[in-house]
Amino acid sequence: MGRNWADLPPELLGLCSQDLCPNDLSAFRAVCHTWRSAAVEESSDVPWLMLADKKGERCQEFFCLPCQRIHKKLLPEVKERTCFSSQGWVLTIGRDGELHMLKNPMLRHSHIIKLPNLEKLPDVQFVLTDNPTTSVDYRVMVIYNGRNKGQLGLWKPGDKEWTEVISRDYHFDAIFYKGCFYALDGIGNIWRCNAYGPTPFKAKRVFTLPHELISQKQIYLVQSTTGSLLVVSRHGIFEPQGTFQFHVFEIDLKTKS
Ligand SMILES: [Zn+2]
Repeated sequence: MGRNWADLPPELLGLCSQDLCPNDLSAFRAVCHTWRSAAVEESSDVPWLMLADKKGERCQEFFCLPCQRIHKKLLPEVKERTCFSSQGWVLTIGRDGELHMLKNPMLRHSHIIKLPNLEKLPDVQFVLTDNPTTSVDYRVMVIYNGRNKGQLGLWKPGDKEWTEVISRDYHFDAIFYKGCFYALDGIGNIWRCNAYGPTPFKAKRVFTLPHELISQKQIYLVQSTTGSLLVVSRHGIFEPQGTFQFHVFEIDLKTKS
């Protein structure tokens, strides 16, 4: 009597499936109904690393940390586009200014959100307040080149267009921190935008960094694992030898120190 792989005990199939990476688990689940029923649910929160576009390659390549291999996925929304990430989502921007947010390339049809086009390409940043998979009340902020360089734009589900946030221009970093967006402009001011408040289109200056901290350096806003707001200053970005030092400062928005 011939053996049928579909007749393997479900508990054995479940055991076999539990250590598979999302890609292999997807293949496992596609074998037959029995294998699909017995497989564990996909629950990995280890991100895939999206690799740079390769000329002539139709698929997008991802480096899979759990299995240490490269997986390929057909994702036209990603190919030949500029990509940014926030909250585990990827924002993709085409040359025509078309914007998409993607979550999981394994589940592409249910995890793509189309955003209004931007006339000009976003400059540096894309920030989400929340994960659209688990929250419907999220907001998106982008730094983009509109009328001016490095403007702030805000979007929420249902909006037909981006809302321009009134602030200084030339922002080059932004973060969502303790319920508000914070953005850093080119002269060291930190602006707060309460995206859930009555005037989300207005940002307020809440901190000014010392000039010596920002001159000739690249500055980033970062939240520490303990919940502090940090400014990271990267030295040497404009030097021929490249980055050689980082300085980290903790910002206290209450005492402004
Ligand atoms: Zn893998």
